[in-house]
Amino acid sequence: MKDLSKELEKRKRQHRYRTRRITQGPQQVEMHIDNKDVISFCSNDYLGLANHPQIKQATIDAIKNFGVGSGSAHLVNGHSIAHHQLEEELAEFTGYPRAILFSTGYMANLGLCQALVEKGDYIFEDRLNHASLIDGGLISGARLQRYLHNDVSSLAQKIQKVDKTAEKLVLTDGVFSMDGDIANLPALSTLCKKNNSWLMVDDAHGFGTLGETGKGSLQHFSLSQDDVPIYMATLGKAIGTAGAFIAGSEALIETIIQKARTYIYTTAMPAAIAESTRCSLKIIQNEPEHRLNLNNNISYFRDCCSQADIAIENSQTAIQPLLIGNDKKAMHISQKLFEQGLLVTAIRPPTVPEGTSRLRITLSAKHTHDNIDQLINALSKLII
Ligand SMILES: *Cc1c(COP(=O)(O)O)cnc(C)c1O
Repeated sequence: MKDLSKELEKRKRQHRYRTRRITQGPQQVEMHIDNKDVISFCSNDYLGLANHPQIKQATIDAIKNFGVGSGSAHLVNGHSIAHHQLEEELAEFTGYPRAILFSTGYMANLGLCQALVEKGDYIFEDRLNHASLIDGGLISGARLQRYLHNDVSSLAQKIQKVDKTAEKLVLTDGVFSMDGDIANLPALSTLCKKNNSWLMVDDAHGFGTLGETGKGSLQHFSLSQDDVPIYMATLGKAIGTAGAFIAGSEALIETIIQKARTYIYTTAMPAAIAESTRCSLKIIQNEPEHRLNLNNNISYFRDCCSQADIAIENSQTAIQPLLIGNDKKAMHISQKLFEQGLLVTAIRPPTVPEGTSRLRITLSAKHTHDNIDQLINALSKLII
């Protein structure tokens, strides 16, 4: 047996030790956390829907009708009418023939890879893909190749080298989770069509936020289901609830039901959460102001940064990383911000590549310009 405490000590020395802060109260911009009032700039609740009164009420009403636990897997007797209607509404909203719910995004990605490809097939992934896509590729048994970040010619080189008849799957984040940039989906789609390869987009950070009506990164580029045969998004971020879904053809969804182990061998999410999500989807469709506020805050934040000479990355999304480089320095700035009532997490390797530790600032529809001014003032003093 290895000495765990020795390994933990080593992590601490490297400034890589991970700890949890304890929140007391709902997920929102103004939070009470570790007994301190703070303004949060690190949530993925981009539209501020996680504590929305109507969605909360829909959940409470659903619990009255469905109880709490779903009791079993979807394939046993856990698949309620609430889950089923949500799947139909997600298919309609995204423009795909069908959609299927998963309990988490991590499980959706593992399940898709494992259902679709196997030993002898090929998976190609952007180097900066989310860990769940990488892990999905690894457990599928397919040969996994990673291409340079958002570099379609790097993918082209790799994909053109493999046997034309081989089964191929290309996986990409729609919006990259730690960088905020948007994948070049039109070029990826063209390349995949030319090489007879599946393309799957994980739109965890685009769904609800991007595109004219919040349909995500495909709408942002005016792409359709013909361009991207597999679309996945999570429900715990902009949607404000929990879970995830995959949208695709009838045959794809049936294949997932037959084969995806993370679908088959797990308890369905509570029906009430499906009802919360149905309510959230309606709000997203009927109240564009949330998305407009978010976009306004993104522009305001970027303008303020350029006026204050704060060098942020080239991101048009709610994710606005501030690269620091050094792990210890990133932790130090995050701690100083916390002392001033500003919650911004430092993201370190292995979540991001070596030497690219950063403050992952995220914006919400619910931030006020005053909140943003406060962050900019604090940052401009801390990052010289
Ligand atoms: C958050 C995230 C996931 C995982 O989703 P969960 O529902 O939190 O498990 C998958 N992919 C990306 C890109 C993510 O950001």
